[in-house]
Amino acid sequence: MLPYQHLAIVAEHFVEASHIVSPRIVAPSPKPKPLNPKSQPMKLYLIPTPIGNLEDITLRALRILKEVDIILAEDTRTSSKLLRHYDINKKVLAHHQFNEHKMAEGLVRQISEGTTMALISDAGTPGISDPGFLLTRACIQAGIDVECLPGPTAFVPALVNSGLPSDRFLFEGFLPHKKGRQTRLKELAKQPYTFILYESPFRLVKSLEQLAEHLGAERQACVSRELTKIYEENRRGTLTELAKWYKEHSPKGEIVLVVAGSTGNNPEIPDVEENEEEE
Ligand code: SAM
Repeated sequence: MLPYQHLAIVAEHFVEASHIVSPRIVAPSPKPKPLNPKSQPMKLYLIPTPIGNLEDITLRALRILKEVDIILAEDTRTSSKLLRHYDINKKVLAHHQFNEHKMAEGLVRQISEGTTMALISDAGTPGISDPGFLLTRACIQAGIDVECLPGPTAFVPALVNSGLPSDRFLFEGFLPHKKGRQTRLKELAKQPYTFILYESPFRLVKSLEQLAEHLGAERQACVSRELTKIYEENRRGTLTELAKWYKEHSPKGEIVLVVAGSTGNNPEIPDVEENEEEE
């Protein structure tokens, strides 16, 4: 699992529909300028890529991937499928959790010298439970412009499909497997917002059971599996119902778990000493 679990996003809507008094006028989009290191400011592009369905990529994402000098990819073999599909033949360098620290300084230097670069991950938005944060921060510190395009990410469709309140929410990424897991479950039990977890099929039942224990058997949740793919499934129910279902129907594929926030009726869980072996 990747070490980007602590990113928390709480989104709030400040504008009510009643405030919108006139139809929005959308200006025609300016003609895209080709990337040119001599006339464009130094920039790192973060490009979201499909989470399953190869059609889920924007026209601008494809254009930028075709125009940059170098594409930084989490796994060059995984991304080659996407790049081949769209006939993108660019220099691709591996940039993943095991070399991102070491590479940051050199990449910042190259971008400063005029090399245009786009960062992609295996799927979805770089920096969301994927490498991206370290390079983004290094670029910002060096005065390099960073632009993340809007695009695919697994947690947004899962949240919206869940039917749970989405006006404010918490993105939790992967729960810790060992140390810190119980503490995190206890924190999550109390907070009032819908929250989102990334989960592996091998841990889903265990997580649902532990969540039921800490948050209460009746807490509503939704399991989104294989989003955008042929066998997409969004299964809603209480934590106990979902745990029972997936115990009987072994889950496969990629999973997002969305859980309702607390309304104040949580079970009393005694404090336990956490240690490295805790599962
Ligand atoms: N950067 C990605 C994003 O923007 O969503 C997340 C990458 S993270 C390493 C991979 C996890 O995202 C999977 O284990 C799963 O929890 C979730 N995920 C990715 N694609 C998915 C899909 N098609 N359906 C359900 N969950 C998905």
